[in-house]
Amino acid sequence: MIFKKKKFERKVLLQQDVLDSILSYCQMNHPNECILILKGKSKNGAIKIDGLVIPPFTETGPTFAGFPHSFLPFDMNYLGIVHSHPSGSAEPSVTDLHNFFGLASLIVKSPYDDDSIFAWDSSGNPIPLSIVQNI
Ligand SMILES: [Zn+2]
Repeated sequence: MIFKKKKFERKVLLQQDVLDSILSYCQMNHPNECILILKGKSKNGAIKIDGLVIPPFTETGPTFAGFPHSFLPFDMNYLGIVHSHPSGSAEPSVTDLHNFFGLASLIVKSPYDDDSIFAWDSSGNPIPLSIVQNI
């Protein structure tokens, strides 16, 4: 994959145990989509994810997972959302980009293994993603 060079290079660092939780949550909800809030810290373009929150008032279905953003408490540690694509494509849909929240959007495609997760920015451009043991 080729990433455009930017002055302010964004990257996502995802803690291994958080990835494991995301993958098992997606598997549990299959064939429906699921959605989770990403928690962590962002510094100098590095988006470090070390926790998850289950959003309130979630609606899920085979092609849609969402929640009203107005119900979200204001929290500086909320970096974005992750949701699953049971259909097997990791590309963000138009709806996904419309409902973009935070700094990065992670999409997990079926079959939800370590290579099934991708990070995107609000324009639908890929952000490099690394799995780390500890942040
Ligand atoms: Zn989606």
